[in-house]
Order: sequence, then C-alpha cells, then structure tokens
Amino acid sequence: MEFTEIAIAGGGLAGLTAAIELRCMGRDVTVFEKHPYPRHKVCGEYLSAEVLPYLESVGVDISDAPRITRLRLQSERGRPVFADLPLGGLGISRYALDHRLCEAASGLGVRLRFETIREINPGETGSSLRTDAGNYRAGRILATWGKRSNLDRQQDRPFFARKSQWMAIKNHYQADYPSDQVGLYTFRGGYGGLSVTETGALNFCFLIRQKRFAYYNSPETCAKEIIAAHPGLREALGEAKPLFSRPLAISQISFDAKKRHRNQVLFAGDAAQLIHPLTGNGMAMAILGGRMLARQLGQQAGVPGPGNGVANEDYSGKWDTAFRGRLLSGRALQWLLTRSRMTDVLVRMAGSFPGLLPLIVSKTHGPPVHP
Ligand SMILES: Cc1cc2nc3c(=O)[nH]c(=O)nc-3n(C[C@H](O)[C@H](O)[C@H](O)COP(=O)(O)OP(=O)(O)OC[C@H]3O[C@@H](n4cnc5c(N)ncnc54)[C@H](O)[C@@H]3O)c2cc1C
Repeated sequence: MEFTEIAIAGGGLAGLTAAIELRCMGRDVTVFEKHPYPRHKVCGEYLSAEVLPYLESVGVDISDAPRITRLRLQSERGRPVFADLPLGGLGISRYALDHRLCEAASGLGVRLRFETIREINPGETGSSLRTDAGNYRAGRILATWGKRSNLDRQQDRPFFARKSQWMAIKNHYQADYPSDQVGLYTFRGGYGGLSVTETGALNFCFLIRQKRFAYYNSPETCAKEIIAAHPGLREALGEAKPLFSRPLAISQISFDAKKRHRNQVLFAGDAAQLIHPLTGNGMAMAILGGRMLARQLGQQAGVPGPGNGVANEDYSGKWDTAFRGRLLSGRALQWLLTRSRMTDVLVRMAGSFPGLLPLIVSKTHGPPVHP
C-alpha cells in the first residue's frame, strides 16, 4: 500500500496552499482531488487583495486579473450606492486560480492524485484512506474538502444532517461592465455579485433561498427572472450572452458552525467554516487557513500521537483568533442584506455617510499578508 507522509483531502485553495507550504518545508505531500483542473466552480470570483503578496511569493501569477477598487451596492427597489474598497481585490476565475495554484504545487513536487476519497480512517499511529482507485496509508490527513463532501457524512459531522436553506447559481456572460467594480445586488430571497474576470467575462453568481428557487423550474429560468426583475442586474445583464451552455448550480450550502479538528484530522478552508459569500473573503480565508494549517503541522510530528491533542487545540484557537471576527461580521451583514427594508435603510445611510460601507467591508477582511 502506498504511503504518504501527509495526505491532503481536497485540492481547492486551502488544500493546494497547505500542500505548497508543506512541500516548501520538505514534507512528502499528496493531494487527492476528485476533479481534474482546470474547471469552473460556483464562486463570486472576487479575490481580496490581502492574499496577493502571499500568492506572488509562492509563484502564482495573477497579474492578468483586473484590479477591483470600488463596490456598487443596489437593492431591487433602490438606486445604487458606490464606495471605495479599503483594500480592494482582483477579479479572477476559479478556472484560472485553482489551476495556477495546482501548477505551482506540482512544480514543487507535490503529488496529485485525481481520485475521489471514499473513506478516511484517522488513527493514533497513522491513518489510512480509500479512494475510488485504491488504498493508501498516511502519517496525517488534512481535511480541505470544501463546504460539503461525502467525507463530512463519513466523519459524522453534525452540520451534514441538517438541511440548509441556501443554494447558489453562477454563469459567465459576455457583457460590458466596469472592470474596477464589484457589484452586490440584493433581491427578495437572496443576493448576487458581478465582477469581470481575467478573460474579460462578467461573472454573475448568486445565493438564493431554496424556497424561493422552488418558484422557478430550472437554474436558467431562475437566473433570467432574477435579472429581469432587478433594475441594476437588468442594466448589466439584460442583453448579455451567457457563456456556459448551462449555469452551474450547487445546493445545501451550510453556514452552520463546524469544528476545526476532529479525530486527529485538522480542517481548513470551507471545511473549517464557510463565511457568508457577500463578504468576498472566503477565498482569502481558504488560502490563509491552508497556510496556517501547514505551519501548525510543520511544528508537529507528521504522525499523530498523544501529545498532538494539545497542538490541535492550539490550531483551533489560532484559527478562531484569525477569523472569528470576520465570520461574525459576515453573518450580521448577511442578516441585514437579506431583509429588503434593512438593505434600503443601509443604502440610504451609505449615501449620506460615505465612510460607512468601507468600514463595514473592512470588518470582514484582514490586512495584507506577507510571506
Ligand atoms: C455562492 C458563493 C459565492 C462565493 N463568492 C466568493 C467571492 O466572490 N470571493 C471569495 O473570496 N469567496 C467566495 N466564496 C467562498 C469561496 O468560494 C470558498 O470559501 C473557497 O472556495 C473555499 O476554498 P476551499 O479550498 O476550502 O474549498 P473548495 O474550493 O471547494 O475545494 C475543495 C475541493 O475538495 C474536493 N473534494 C471534495 N470532496 C472530495 C473527496 N471526497 N475526494 C477528493 N476531493 C474532494 C472538491 O472537488 C474541491 O475541489 C463564495 C462561496 C459561495 C458559495
């Protein structure tokens, strides 16, 4: 049976970042990912500038992505308000970003296995995992499998059993839109983001309550009708041509609390906790969380042991310190922006107090992180 010192379960942003970091420390790393790159993922594709110096330092070039410096916020009933973003970000597709991180990881010697993990069995003296292609032994397993995976069920994580009320839909469009702007458009039952990516395509990704989605008979109809009913979205996308033959859609998006470690398995990225998407900070948190996890592990032995319980708690504590404030602000913001009257009040106040929106945004982001 093949042995790897560290098995990373899930090759998204958190998993690939952890792999790059661990490889740079000289560790033997295998990433297991169920889908080959490049591929599109449901995501708003606004990347906070806080991780740009870090990505550059590990050789991930995203200089072709448009720089975003301002926010447009608009409800279904109101006029738009605009605000400068304190730190700003980039419009980069997941098609490009995940693929470029993967290339950086494999250039460093990270092993990539495009296999779906069916089962993990963490143990006191090492772990094993079973994929659809074979069985492996690992000193340690890192859980970076995203917001919801078959492995959450296999690991009996409590959030998995609870029904979530949210789903998300995304498509790229050929349309004119200011490339230095990210748009946040709220509507009854949800909200969506607009931003231009490195290809020039305009990404429209929205979160909607499952109950509201039930009024439409498909993601296509849902997207069309949401666009048609919103003055801001209609202006941007009314005449636009969708670039995917069908929108991408995912359901059961859970914002429930999750544990950062369990049975000797440490979690990062959405597997540790999903932040509300309107913050535009999930990708940065996944990258920073992957880095934090790898650095924690760098101080521990590869194989779990009795002493590691304390180190696992230490990791959880560090994770909470770094991200708890953003999660709470994100939750409050989502509560506010999914109530149309509240959104209208916020938009009116933001019109009168130009510093308000930048202040709110800064609460859901961190400072730039250097290598
Ligand atoms: C609607 C929506 C919009 C968003 N918009 C933004 C935004 O604009 N900006 C932003 O910063 N964040 C945004 N986010 C959040 C962001 O997408 C996530 O936080 C980020 O993708 C988390 O990265 P990750 O590496 O944890 O997970 P992922 O990128 O989901 O990676 C997990 C990987 O694990 C793999 N995997 C799962 N199970 C298995 C298995 N059993 N075996 C092998 N592989 C497996 C998956 O295939 C996947 O590639 C948004 C989220 C949503 C839902």
